[in-house]
Amino acid sequence: MNELAPITLLTQQETAEERAHDFSPKTFDDYLGQAELKKKLALYTQAAKMRGEPLDHLLLFGPPGLGKTTLATIMAQIMGVDIKIASGPILERTGDLVALLSNLEPRDIFFIDEIHRMPSNVEEVLYTAMEQFSVDVIIGQGAGAKTVTLPLHPFTLIGATTKSGMISAPLRSRFGIIERIDFYTDEELSHIVAQSASFLKLSLSAESSLLIAQCSRGTPRVAKKIVRRVRDFAQVHERAADTAVVEEALTFLGIDKDGLNTVDNLLLRKIIEQFDGGPVGVETLASLIGEDRETIENVLEPFLMRQGYLEKTPRGRQIPYKALSYLKNKFLGQKDLFSI
Ligand code: ADP
Repeated sequence: MNELAPITLLTQQETAEERAHDFSPKTFDDYLGQAELKKKLALYTQAAKMRGEPLDHLLLFGPPGLGKTTLATIMAQIMGVDIKIASGPILERTGDLVALLSNLEPRDIFFIDEIHRMPSNVEEVLYTAMEQFSVDVIIGQGAGAKTVTLPLHPFTLIGATTKSGMISAPLRSRFGIIERIDFYTDEELSHIVAQSASFLKLSLSAESSLLIAQCSRGTPRVAKKIVRRVRDFAQVHERAADTAVVEEALTFLGIDKDGLNTVDNLLLRKIIEQFDGGPVGVETLASLIGEDRETIENVLEPFLMRQGYLEKTPRGRQIPYKALSYLKNKFLGQKDLFSI
């Protein structure tokens, strides 16, 4: 099996085809977990709807795959408005943004994923759009050029980002609501696994759902992808998806009993073999494992840190003392001399 397959499993967005064939929550009731966040967003959405006004602009922080786009879609559904989805890196020119903004109907939701990756001149256009519901456009060239103010329908911007530190202060200050979305607990994820399995008509015991949840890095997108692969595995082997089959499918996917995939293990192994546990700079790690820095920071590291396998220090990433002997034993098959 291709060594890098598991990372693709983690980071890839669902294709339209996959989305069409899997369950996606359409209401807050179907959106499982995140109880506190849901309570707040449901209240704000209801209040805006009752007033017939657009919702305040909302900024959502959190790692990929945790359900930011899904939340925005649910809110649009409740408000009875359309949602237009764009992403920071594709809004390269101010004209791209203006074209999208001018197509919004009253109270529509405009969702920008990875909003921290918008070029700064495009970001500036967003300031007046958010504040005054208008944009300034320059018409003509040279001496004959003039600025025309184009009015927009009142809309709601929902910005999503994985990096809170990279949102500029002027942009951040224009959001009325700022919320964080956190990794899911294994229990919450096991409900999401069961929900997806039931939609896919895959029979999974509570034990199997929990097993998949424990290997899903606290992330619904990963959980749902594993469910689909378990279904493939069970189907081709003409077996029921019992715990043994789930375990075999996880092994087939390169996910081990610690919930670590091939790339996690490669990263930890390199730190142990080449740096005796670290510290080591993130750029060095990126080139050693052939991934980019963003993938390490957004996908690999948050999970490894939560599990206690990695920590950040001013001198780089290192394996905490507590995990060192376990991992040395796992990779090198030898006990750390200092372990008790
Ligand atoms: P993000 O925008 O944060 O990257 P998405 O909204 O695209 O994440 O969600 C990824 C996948 O996980 C989607 O298939 C979505 O339906 C599912 N999902 C996310 N959060 C939940 C949840 N709380 N309950 C059920 N499914 C969820």
